[in-house]
Amino acid sequence: MATRIIPNLPVLFIDTGYHFWDTLMFREKIAEEWGLNIIDLRRASHWDSFVRQNARALPVEDPNLCCYLNKVQPMQTALKGYKAWISGIRRDQTAVRARANFLELQEDGLLKINPLLNWTKADVSRYIEEHDLPSHPLYEKGYRSVGCAPCTIAIGVNDDERAGRWAGRGKIECGLHTAMFSKKDISESQNEFQMDMTKVK
Ligand code: SF4
Repeated sequence: MATRIIPNLPVLFIDTGYHFWDTLMFREKIAEEWGLNIIDLRRASHWDSFVRQNARALPVEDPNLCCYLNKVQPMQTALKGYKAWISGIRRDQTAVRARANFLELQEDGLLKINPLLNWTKADVSRYIEEHDLPSHPLYEKGYRSVGCAPCTIAIGVNDDERAGRWAGRGKIECGLHTAMFSKKDISESQNEFQMDMTKVK
């Protein structure tokens, strides 16, 4: 929908390093077939050794910190210089998203635009069918919302759409859609980050 209006609209893909192989292949397929202007985002390199040393424990023991380093901070960095960004969140997905507005001015001055807020899951399915769009390959295997591999499980047909995300870890919302993201970047160095960790929780 967006690229019909602006064909070379930058599409930001956050490569957390924890994606399913299926996700990376799907990203490559639609990027090529649709000629998308995809910009890959990765965490700041000064975090590499910390993340590698804690690669297995990080998503399990501190998913907020993991999301901050691998998603939120790369997006904050990538959006510097932009005035607005577009998100595909819907009100029927989570309690946080149910309270969202179509236009939200973030604390950092960025405008967040949520054009699909009032769409339902059924609206999305109908649009996919009507326009013959491909679905993520894991969808038919019971993954009804796909995030990173360590934080996503398959669910039953009657479960909440996002029940398979961070299941049993007390985390229910992606950091990109919380105050964690909309505030100014709170850390440029590991030392500052350790001092400011309470702000991330
Ligand atoms: S979804 Fe999981 S693995 Fe991905 S960045 Fe967040 S905590 Fe880390």
